[in-house]
Amino acid sequence: MSTQPPIVVGIDFDNTLVCYDTLFHRVAAEQKLIPDDVPVNKTAVRNYLRQIGREPAWTEMQGVVYGNRIVEAEAYPGALDFIRQGIASGWTLHIVSHKTRYPIKGEPVDLHESARRWLETQGVHSSAIGLPRGNVWFAPTKTEKAQRAEALGCQVFIDDLPEFLLDPAFPSGIRRILFDPQKNVRPSEHYTIVHSWAEIPALVSA
Ligand SMILES: [Mg+2]
Repeated sequence: MSTQPPIVVGIDFDNTLVCYDTLFHRVAAEQKLIPDDVPVNKTAVRNYLRQIGREPAWTEMQGVVYGNRIVEAEAYPGALDFIRQGIASGWTLHIVSHKTRYPIKGEPVDLHESARRWLETQGVHSSAIGLPRGNVWFAPTKTEKAQRAEALGCQVFIDDLPEFLLDPAFPSGIRRILFDPQKNVRPSEHYTIVHSWAEIPALVSA
């Protein structure tokens, strides 16, 4: 029997576990904010709306997508398998999300409750996957998110935002994996870039 302490992995929620590309495009199209030729991804929708001076519409749409409509969003391919297999391997996984309770604009939907609803819908807490409900954390600021990751004893953290992984508040002892499915992030000596979830298990156990 190995006596090594379990590997503890922190996982970001928005745009790391949850893919909003289709949903942002769908909601924007329903609201007739975008023409048909805008590519089906979140960044393209945001850039288009900024370009035409509709930034407030974009902000408001975030409340809808991260709130009432969140259950329509998909998990990134391989993300739920990663959680299932990680738990089966004896790793401790925590989802640590930087998320305010209410949107900055629009209807005051509880965004934490919405995120939890997504996790339930995807079966993340079911016996098939097995993440304990207590292993989901919401931090109102980036600094508190970094502090939470440290307090939980994370050895590895997976996130889509370079500005979080490179933040001075980010604990220096945690290995950083940058999830970059669109392949548009600048390399850094401080993180390892992956383009898919399938690449991550080998990095975690390395
Ligand atoms: Mg994120």
